[in-house]
Amino acid sequence: MKKEMQFQTESRQLLDLMINSIYSNKEIFLRELISNASDAIDKYRYLSLTEPEKYPSAEGEIRLNPNKDERYIEIIDNGIGMSLEEMESNLGTIARSGSKEFSEKIKKAKEAKDLSIIGQFGVGFYSAFMVAEKVEVISKPEGGEAHRFYSDGKETFTIEDAEMVQDHGSIVRVYLKKDIDDENYSKYLETYQIENLVKRYSDYVRYPIKMFETRTESDKDDEDKPIDGKTHEVTEDKTLNSMVPLWKKGKDEVKDEDLNAFYKSKFDDYEDPLLSLKLHVDGLVCYDALLFIPSHAPYNLYSESYEQGLALYSKGIFIQHKCKELIPNYLKFTQGLVDSDDFPLNISREILQKSPAMSKIANNVEKKILDKLKSTLKNERETYEKFYKVYGDHLKFGIYTTYGMKKPDLQDLLLFHSLKEDKLVTLAEYVEKMDKKQKDILYASGKSLDEIKLLPQLEKFKRDEIDVLLLDHDIDEFTIMAMNDYDKHLFKNVAAMEKDDLDKEEKDKIDNLTANHKRILDTMKEALNGKVDEVAFSTKLVDSPVCITTKDGLSLNMEKVLDEQPGEHPEGAPKAAKVLEINGDSELFKAIAAVGDNDEEIKKFGTLLYNEALLLEGREVEDKKAFVQALNELMVKAAK
Ligand code: ADP
Repeated sequence: MKKEMQFQTESRQLLDLMINSIYSNKEIFLRELISNASDAIDKYRYLSLTEPEKYPSAEGEIRLNPNKDERYIEIIDNGIGMSLEEMESNLGTIARSGSKEFSEKIKKAKEAKDLSIIGQFGVGFYSAFMVAEKVEVISKPEGGEAHRFYSDGKETFTIEDAEMVQDHGSIVRVYLKKDIDDENYSKYLETYQIENLVKRYSDYVRYPIKMFETRTESDKDDEDKPIDGKTHEVTEDKTLNSMVPLWKKGKDEVKDEDLNAFYKSKFDDYEDPLLSLKLHVDGLVCYDALLFIPSHAPYNLYSESYEQGLALYSKGIFIQHKCKELIPNYLKFTQGLVDSDDFPLNISREILQKSPAMSKIANNVEKKILDKLKSTLKNERETYEKFYKVYGDHLKFGIYTTYGMKKPDLQDLLLFHSLKEDKLVTLAEYVEKMDKKQKDILYASGKSLDEIKLLPQLEKFKRDEIDVLLLDHDIDEFTIMAMNDYDKHLFKNVAAMEKDDLDKEEKDKIDNLTANHKRILDTMKEALNGKVDEVAFSTKLVDSPVCITTKDGLSLNMEKVLDEQPGEHPEGAPKAAKVLEINGDSELFKAIAAVGDNDEEIKKFGTLLYNEALLLEGREVEDKKAFVQALNELMVKAAK
């Protein structure tokens, strides 16, 4: 049997990028292949525990075997191995889980000439092509046949029958490229270089990484003294790594660099994590954990293909790649692993997921992550803001989707943009700077900060130097609605109509205006034909002649957000109850009032004012034709 196949388009594009290389650091190919070998042994060990009759137990081992004559280095493992089909799908396709997003990203990356993106994909195996002119993999699953895969990493790969002495496992043979100029590939054939690379990148791998090392020793005489000029070669089978998993080492033994290197190799990232957490918990629950928050959101975080969860180990033995029970949904961007002696080993994953130890550990992990975020906010504001820019919406999501249940845990981690300070502030910081008279937390919402800052409703607050939080993310208003209040201060939208908290003077003024101009208000409302609930005089406006406010909960911004959610509201999204607020002190209103009882004119002004207010809200004019016609008529009049 022999099959030659084309790499998938995406895989080809990636290979191309990979080879014309983005990683300046080609040596990491070894760490990637060792990491694959270790994963394969993990998988075999798990099967040998759960199905011992089918998978006889075996001591896991990884062997490195450089061959100078043939110019290759082999990475050999006695792990789970691959069947023919697995070879084809695992090695013939890159980023299998997310190939659609993947090709989109690649396209974008090419356009933006930003190749760093590539590191976000599981490209482990393919990194071999950075140093190889050809890669060969011979693999065999327990009880199955052996096959050979080989490719030059260009267009095609070939799979054919093969022989293998081992019962199960893989041999990855990397034929090194020729040395050119400043690129020395031969170094990967030198045992001392290989040993250094293993120490640097793979020391924590839990299986022995072995290599035969030959060194020259002097011959000794009877008295054990070296004989001048006479030497012999000694070959030693050496274990290169310390094998203590990083998470089992003491806190003092583990440096930040170690955690960063571990994260990058284990979770296929090219950037250091933003935050790392090494936990050793010895209490009601006992576990070790390494937790990481990536510097950038995983490329498929928002798609179905994203697998949430932490890797799960029991007594140092790998159980599961992604255990989603270990991490709450709103922290799903967290990567890492948990190792606990409290998990029973020989039970199925399904039963394990429901075990009491699982939920206790999950709760504890969640608490530790939130503690870490709190301390980062307190002590490393800049890092926290970086975190928040990437993941802030997830915290809000946590509050919103639990109907406020998570509010006590999460409210102090929220940041919003302050109008007055023009930077992100916590709710506590906002409240602390509030004037004694101010009871509520004021906010305005919209699509972007620039758009919100244009809202006429903010004029008064700008003038009086009262701070307002600017909510520019879709989820913001839904979150604060779920919260209801912060520290007993209610949230109040400055774009909501205010009637109750006016002082007597303001109220009298409004009542007077309304009584004097009732006809104008009624005529305009009639002209707007159901688009607004009310036309009224405003207390908010300073310079602008009009704005739109809302009554009863749903704001204009929320109306828009709901409207944009596809398929959520088949009968149409709920509508906000709108009020067209007019500035009775404005020149424009005074001029309109002077028109007297020409209802037709008043109606036109009403439509124009309404549309003008919509524009300032970042909305579109509703009846464009009527709007333009009315505007044109006005211009004709003015020009005459
Ligand atoms: P990743 O390891 O991120 O999934 P790779 O491209 O490195 O991506 O590997 C693709 C897949 O090939 C792995 O998920 C695994 O299923 C399989 N694989 C790679 N190396 C080995 C190996 N030494 N033994 C068994 N399977 C392997």
